[in-house]
Amino acid sequence: MINLVFKNRYLALGEGFYDKCKPTPVTQPELIIFNHALAQQLGVPAEGLDETVLAGIFSGNLIHEGCEPLAMAYAGHQFGGFNPQLGDGRAIYLGEVEVADGHSLDLQLKGSGPTRYSRNGDGRAALGPVLREYLLSEAMHKLGVPTTRALAAVTTGEDVAREKLSPGGVITRVASSFIRVGSFEYFARQGDQLSVKKLADYVIERNYPELTAAGNRYLALFEAVVIRQAGLIAKWMQLGFIHGVMNTDNMSVAGETIDYGPCAFMDFFQHDMVYSSIDRQGRYAYNNQPNIGVWNLSRLAEALLPLFADEPDQAVKLAEDILQRYADLYANEWLAGFRAKCGLSARAMPEAAIKLAEDDTALLQSLLDIMAQGRADFHLTFYYLSQLDSEPGDRDVQLLALFSDADTMSAWLLRWRQRLSAETQSDHERQFSMLSVNPVYIPRNHQIEAVIRAAEDHNDFSAFHALHALLQNPFSYQSGMDKYMLPPAAGEVVHQTFCGT
Ligand code: AMP
Ligand code: MG
Repeated sequence: MINLVFKNRYLALGEGFYDKCKPTPVTQPELIIFNHALAQQLGVPAEGLDETVLAGIFSGNLIHEGCEPLAMAYAGHQFGGFNPQLGDGRAIYLGEVEVADGHSLDLQLKGSGPTRYSRNGDGRAALGPVLREYLLSEAMHKLGVPTTRALAAVTTGEDVAREKLSPGGVITRVASSFIRVGSFEYFARQGDQLSVKKLADYVIERNYPELTAAGNRYLALFEAVVIRQAGLIAKWMQLGFIHGVMNTDNMSVAGETIDYGPCAFMDFFQHDMVYSSIDRQGRYAYNNQPNIGVWNLSRLAEALLPLFADEPDQAVKLAEDILQRYADLYANEWLAGFRAKCGLSARAMPEAAIKLAEDDTALLQSLLDIMAQGRADFHLTFYYLSQLDSEPGDRDVQLLALFSDADTMSAWLLRWRQRLSAETQSDHERQFSMLSVNPVYIPRNHQIEAVIRAAEDHNDFSAFHALHALLQNPFSYQSGMDKYMLPPAAGEVVHQTFCGT
């Protein structure tokens, strides 16, 4: 065993919340990667780990001492339609492990075999989606986005049947919480208000302990979830990230990005970009993510309503007041984030601040419009912009070359430089702070695809390890690694992503 000390407050919620079940052993587990830094936070010693033991534990073949595995029950709105019974169909919750400052993190295997909630699924994961989730979730963490983390990935030695036979894998995810909006919907739809309340108390205790003493703690919880979600989605937007399947069962109440299925980082910018093969109406398109955020939060409000006030009308009013703040919360986070990406601070006097915010919003929106028109690469646009001086110079050329219509972008640069003249920081300071929010590297779709092909088709994990190592430092230029910085060549473009279920 590896010295994980499990406790499991979720288990104490009682039978209706889960099904106790064990992972189904696999024939030949082999460790692909183990996240030593994260393991140390969980109290696992850095030295003396045996790979066979790690492969055993993180494939589900070995049950760690003190661990009482279970599958969680939840419901969810999928593409707008309600499904009353989802649940962990291919994931198994291992329990919580205490980390520093009294917080706990939850551990879960994904791909570890069928559960009571598997419906027609096999409970397994193909290796490709396992590698994808590992790379993406760890990259998001390094990019400063709240997210579930990846602790381990293993191959199973067994094939899974998808469009074709693919090698199987298991990923171990670590989260502040695996409670979703859909977890609340599950009980609310059954009219089981007692369980909704128990779950809310559990979430407050685990993730929002500062709200324990709040006057109306359930309303305070809802408000806190709204604030975190608005901030999270603004961060996605600032990185050109498209989650792809923002069903209510894939929205964490802890405000972390969860469920890396068909998600993708955009290459060239398009407002309504969609990658997911199953998102045919564009419900989860890039520019629709903020709207879906509030739609999902409205479903959470509905589930929590009886806890807000005894009088239904009053409960609705309280929920609406908070939901109405979402637009402003999001707009403020959006503006702060895109200002930072463009090197603009907001140090205006209060009366001038509103005008400045309006002008900056228009300036930043027009940059996105010009990027869309010119089919400019999202990441390189901001990375190259970060290197420009406040006076026009040689380096303008590499930025302008990203745009099919360089004149329009030149005109924007003129407006940007006029705006910069109101700033007090030096070029050097501004460039430094811009480069701390505009990454050089993100996990580009075609690179992930190359990683998956090498692993699935040739059992070769070198590309996976190279990309993973690079993404440990997404804001630092690393020499010899330009191919990871650049958008795909014509033949390499990935047009669609798949959830791999
Ligand atoms: P997702 O779209 O990955 O969030 O999954 C939606 C629901 O389908 C969840 O309840 C999953 O547990 C379940 N699911 C997805 N893939 C499988 C699978 N291969 N076997 C069993 N259940 C699955
Ligand atoms: Mg899910």
